[in-house]
Amino acid sequence: MKRAVFIGRFAPFHKGHLSLMQKKIDEGIPLLILIRDTHYDSYSAEIRKRMIQACMKKLKVNAKIMIIDDVESFNYGRGVGYEVCEIEVIPELKKISATNIRNMIDEGDDSWKKLVAPGADKVLKDYLSRKGVVVWFTGLSCAGKTTIADAVSDTLRKKEIRCERLDGDILREHITKDLGFSKKDREKNLERATFIAKILARNGVVVLSSFITPYEFIRRKIRTELEKEATFIEVYVKASLETCKKRDYKGLYEKAEKGIIKNFTGISDPFEEPENADLILDTENKTVEECSEEVLRFIEKLKY
Ligand code: ADP
Repeated sequence: MKRAVFIGRFAPFHKGHLSLMQKKIDEGIPLLILIRDTHYDSYSAEIRKRMIQACMKKLKVNAKIMIIDDVESFNYGRGVGYEVCEIEVIPELKKISATNIRNMIDEGDDSWKKLVAPGADKVLKDYLSRKGVVVWFTGLSCAGKTTIADAVSDTLRKKEIRCERLDGDILREHITKDLGFSKKDREKNLERATFIAKILARNGVVVLSSFITPYEFIRRKIRTELEKEATFIEVYVKASLETCKKRDYKGLYEKAEKGIIKNFTGISDPFEEPENADLILDTENKTVEECSEEVLRFIEKLKY
């Protein structure tokens, strides 16, 4: 059986792609759809395959769908024995772009649903709703990041929602033991934390990260990196320096003021006020329960 071959990234499989195949479908020619396994795409090749499968099933098209390695070039000599055709697509469908669709999804613009191929839309919708969440708690030491993240984690676990805590103090005891508190080292520490958060979120886990994350440029970088794989929520756990110093249950502020600890955020290192926080928790005027409720409500809105 000879098949008409179509090759692409299909991230996601949209109506423009389908229209490209329409003529062969109408002629009753079976298809062979090859998905380039590009590792940089937002959707794995497997998910893309499921989208195309769902569409072909819905349209009752005879199509074989395979994932292949990425392609460097197509090479042929004389007489390959099949046609290499350029297919005309009507301009309205030709303008549909997978990049635009991905941007719409990132921006929460629902019009992508009209552009994705029939059948594939449901697969994509299910996939997106299962996307992980990273809640990134930022704030001074003793502001309440760990306490609130732990409370949120307890509630999520009771509801049998898979979640994982990433905590600055704990990470520094294990995977970032080699790092100090200089700007460079803080950046490296957060880069590693971001990587862990990313791979967890990719698997549908709700990640609760509590790191001081004092610099705005790093917070922006973390957001950009994580939004590729997850829904990212930046939570500013807010308490004044005076309150944090009073709480000082770890005795760190005292040591920092005596100069025993260097580069301590709030004392000998800056904490830049977050400019892009999705949620601000005033831990001076609200209880731990009230703060964690606010975070849970935010997560619930994402249909978890
Ligand atoms: P961080 O992780 O930001 O360094 P911690 O959660 O370890 O801070 O410590 C915060 C301290 O403040 C805890 O002792 C906690 O009981 C206390 N606290 C008082 N009010 C609140 C609140 N509303 N939210 C969070 N922590 C609070």
